[in-house]
Amino acid sequence: MTAKTIPLIDYRARTAIPAVADARVEPSGRLLDTRGRRLHDLRISVTDRCNFRCVYCMPKEVFGKDYVYLPHDALLSFEEIVRVARVFVAHGVEKIRLTGGEPLLRKNIESLIAQLAELRTPSGQPLDLTLTTNGTLLPRKARALADAGLRRVTVSLDALDDDVFRRMNDVDFPVADVLRGIDAAAEAGLRPIKINMVVKKGVNDDQIEAMAEYFRHSGHTLRFIEYMDVGASNGWKMDEVLPSAEVLRRIDARWPLETLQPHYSGEVAQRWRYRDGAGEIGVISSVTQAFCSTCTRARLSTEGQLYLCLFATQGYDLRALLRGGASDEDIAAAIAHVWQGRTDNYSERRSADTPRAGRIEMSYIGG
Ligand code: SAM
Ligand code: SF4
Ligand code: SF4
Repeated sequence: MTAKTIPLIDYRARTAIPAVADARVEPSGRLLDTRGRRLHDLRISVTDRCNFRCVYCMPKEVFGKDYVYLPHDALLSFEEIVRVARVFVAHGVEKIRLTGGEPLLRKNIESLIAQLAELRTPSGQPLDLTLTTNGTLLPRKARALADAGLRRVTVSLDALDDDVFRRMNDVDFPVADVLRGIDAAAEAGLRPIKINMVVKKGVNDDQIEAMAEYFRHSGHTLRFIEYMDVGASNGWKMDEVLPSAEVLRRIDARWPLETLQPHYSGEVAQRWRYRDGAGEIGVISSVTQAFCSTCTRARLSTEGQLYLCLFATQGYDLRALLRGGASDEDIAAAIAHVWQGRTDNYSERRSADTPRAGRIEMSYIGG
């Protein structure tokens, strides 16, 4: 297979830099990067728009009424997404997560899900196909998503108290509607449901115990996520991060916990269970306990740029290949080339002197 040059782009700019080395595709189809990490997960962002303005993700001061979103023709079509996904799956991806912005805002998302649900790994297995959502559209859409072949959902929910929740989403959205969305997803069989709570110290950390209590015995897994310095717009400060160790200490003081083994090597959440049998929780400690050494995720932006790290400032322009007449083999070689050259380990090195300007925004890449 011939090597392919793949344009490298700056975040939301169009600076093409030629690739420097030849790509190799392993006979097994699986790809390892320079640190021995296997390409295993693909996150696909299907829109950069959202109906929330979460303070840690799309602050209103930046994502106001003048903010320019991607035009429709810049977005990958469903046909293009499925084509790229098929190539990734042939190269070892077993898990695909749809994200955004708010993925349920993308028109006819069920149709994309139905096409992705048809894909099979080289050993003939269906994908672990899931989606992260703020839950607002689940009451309307959960059944159709399940019918289309979605297996599970992760719902983001940062507070149970209505005032705190409205302050976090910053569009005055009531918490009761998200809780209804979670119930609708469970009824539609999109289980087990993961609930993601980003903890911002002094803003919603007083909600930790209430959230834990609400989801005990529910069968859903509540996961506490450390507030991260993703993007350049959220004004992140280290002293607004509540370490996961403190979250665990608070919960354990009320409902004693014990550790659980990971489901698989490279699972980002550390698993814990209540000793009284009320279920499981997780913590994602990207700031205080970096997990770069097992990071197996690639990210495809809404406009078809391939990113390898949440903290990247540059992506690789797969859309240019898709729209420029490249064959599937060309696209496979380009992906192989990019993954095999991957060195990222930002969270292990996190330091105050790393500039934030130019970093991709969470709403652009989807987490
Ligand atoms: N809109 C959907 C949602 O909120 O679930 C999907 C996209 S959102 C960008 C994906 C996840 O990223 C959410 O769980 C959100 O809480 C998380 N997130 C966004 N900004 C974050 C930050 N600065 N630190 C940690 N997690 C963040
Ligand atoms: Fe929207 Fe999700 Fe970002 Fe909140 S975290 S603003 S719901 S994309
Ligand atoms: Fe992966 Fe980058 Fe996060 Fe490290 S900082 S875990 S390489 S996304």
